[in-house]
Amino acid sequence: MQLPREIIVGSRILDLVGDLCKRLGFSKSALVITGPKTVRIAGRVIMDILEDEGFEVNHTIVTSKTPTLRDVEAVERVIKEVKPQVVLGVGGGTKIDIAKLSSARQKVPFISVPTTASHDGMASPFASIKGLERPYSIMAQSPIAIIADTDIIIRAPYRFIASGCGDVVAKFTSTRDWILAHKRLKEYYAQYTASLALMSARHVSENAALIEPGNEEGVRVLLEALVSCGVAMGIAGTSRPCSGSEHLFSHALDMVAPKPAMHGEQCGVGTVMMAFLHRMRWKSIRDVLKKVGAPTTAEELGIEPEYIIKALTLAGKVRPERYTILNERPLTPKLAERVARRTGVIG
Ligand SMILES: [Zn+2]
Repeated sequence: MQLPREIIVGSRILDLVGDLCKRLGFSKSALVITGPKTVRIAGRVIMDILEDEGFEVNHTIVTSKTPTLRDVEAVERVIKEVKPQVVLGVGGGTKIDIAKLSSARQKVPFISVPTTASHDGMASPFASIKGLERPYSIMAQSPIAIIADTDIIIRAPYRFIASGCGDVVAKFTSTRDWILAHKRLKEYYAQYTASLALMSARHVSENAALIEPGNEEGVRVLLEALVSCGVAMGIAGTSRPCSGSEHLFSHALDMVAPKPAMHGEQCGVGTVMMAFLHRMRWKSIRDVLKKVGAPTTAEELGIEPEYIIKALTLAGKVRPERYTILNERPLTPKLAERVARRTGVIG
């Protein structure tokens, strides 16, 4: 099991980073991985605080929009050269993923400082990297600590928050797929971690009215849910509790759509359709997405219906070892279209 030792969620809490590092036993050196925008939003502040505390601070500005193996290797070279005690990933998903995987490969602890809440990667041991043979995430390491400043996250475009809700709501179907795999294939199923993931989805659903632009309480709810999902994956040692057929649909969309939407947005729409296949209450899941302002249709995703259908038919083949509802009800193009129409994803 890999778990974070400290999780700090709150408003204007970046100042705590120095004390946090010291509590964790780091007092000499740190490497900050950040981006051209996020350096101004949070990276610079973090570096200044650590320098004031007497740390030798190095940093790398990553300019890629999506994390690639080349970015990871570049950061690994910096780690080898400056030998930091700890690596801090400060930014959105890309910077976090690069910091997480490069630090894991160089066996240096990693602290996650997310500036957006668009998916559950901030607290999980997994990283999504382009340029590997697989389109889904790979094992890296859990962050030793997470510092999530709600004041920063709330100022990012609201679309990120809505997307984060989609990734959390996805746990309604991912946990159902896991039970199915356990029943059919006797796959290892951990009820505790499944409950943790499912609880996150319920937490966001029950508090959906709070999740709206400018509402800090809503951001806090979402962060609690995202962190719990990450912890669930850390306990399980697999992304199983948090990633099922709805994620396969999103991965497939990333492969076929000319201009994919955000991960969480696609997972949310996938959840509605996979819940339909599971014969769950898919309409209430769709209502939660609508309430928080997340996309529920192809049009809102900005993706043509033909790619939705293509992705649905491809989803079951993306990750053959992951048994889901798509194994029970393989989707032909005709059936895929029916599912998308019945759930209102395409008109
Ligand atoms: Zn996800």
